[in-house]
Parts: sequence; C-alpha cells; structure tokens
Amino acid sequence: MQLLKERILKDGVVKPGNVLKVDSFLNHQMDIDLINEIGKEFRRRFPSDKITKILTIEASGIGIACIAAQYFNVPVIFAKKAQSINIDGEVYHSKVESFTHKRVYDVILSKKFLSADDHVLIIDDFLANGCALLGLLELVKEAGASVEGAGIVIEKGFQSGGNSIREQGIHLESLAIVDSMTDTSLTFR
Ligand code: 5GP
Repeated sequence: MQLLKERILKDGVVKPGNVLKVDSFLNHQMDIDLINEIGKEFRRRFPSDKITKILTIEASGIGIACIAAQYFNVPVIFAKKAQSINIDGEVYHSKVESFTHKRVYDVILSKKFLSADDHVLIIDDFLANGCALLGLLELVKEAGASVEGAGIVIEKGFQSGGNSIREQGIHLESLAIVDSMTDTSLTFR
C-alpha cells in the first residue's frame, strides 16, 4: 500500500533491536485518515462475505481493527493480556511472547464472543516473529471457528513470522513488508 509505505519512510524511526517505531501515526498518536485507508485496503484484500468477527489483541491492534470493521460490518473482539488469571471454563486461553516487551503474556478471550460458527479475520499492527498471530490463531482453534485470513499493517519480512504463517496455508495480507532496515535506510519488498 503506497500511502502507508510513504508514511513509514517519512515518519518511521528505526530503534535498536529491530524495532520500527511508528508511534506518530499508528500506535500511539493515530492518523485516522490513514487508518481509514488501511481499513478500506483490508476490505479490498478480504472481500469474503463469510467474515463474522474481527479478532485482534490489545492494545495497539484495537483502534486499527475498529476502523477496519466499519468496512466489514462485523464486531471486533480482542484478546486481553491478563497479568495473573484464574483460568476457568469461561475463557479461551493462549500464551503470547511479546516482541517489544520481551515477556510472556497469558491472553484470554471470553467464550461468549467466539464460537464454532464464526469466520474470523485477524488484524494486527505488526508481524515480527509471529507469536502474537500464533496466539490469536490458537484462540480461534480452541473455539472451533474458521480463520478467513490475517491482515497485518506492517510485516517485518526479515523476521520469521510471515513465513511460518504462510506455510500453514493461512491467507496473510501485509500492507507493507519491510525487507531491511537500518538507522539510515529502509527497504520494502
Ligand atoms: P510478533 O509476535 O510477531 O513477534 O510481534 C508482533 C507484536 O509485537 C505486534 O503486536 C506489535 O505490537 C509488536 N511489534 C513487533 N515488532 C514491532 C516493531 O518493530 N515496532 C512496533 N512498534 N511494534 C512491534
């Protein structure tokens, strides 16, 4: 998505540890006009009428998923990161290792909001090693629901997540795939 790539080049900042900061337009301050275009682009790439829910993970995915959901006319559900939990029968549960925070979260989703009848589109801001996406896929699997695909705003193509998700046969669409990044240059696939 050209508009997004131009914005990453203009305002993205590369931080040590392969972290791309895009907090001036995507995940701290949010440029709603841009995210609206992102929402439309996700709809264009996932035209299926079967989608019944959009699933994301707190926190950064929520705003993006909500804006995108207006083009799908379906509810957004988000996995919650639980600090300490009493896991009971009422929630689906998986574990996610955070790339940016270097810790493992238990993530939960109420069983009330996802069932075997659902067709799920997963949306998130970044794909790096794939832990967040794999954790979300696990929740969908626990529910017996179907995965219609995964829409990612920025994939870091030099990390392993994209390949492992595509190898599973999941329809993965990333709006910008970063192939390499250093302090002074950033290239897209
Ligand atoms: P993964 O689980 O694929 O390794 O990482 C994905 C999650 O980590 C995303 O939900 C995102 O919040 C965060 N993340 C991974 N890489 C980056 C990055 O380069 N910049 C930012 N801002 N977040 C990232």
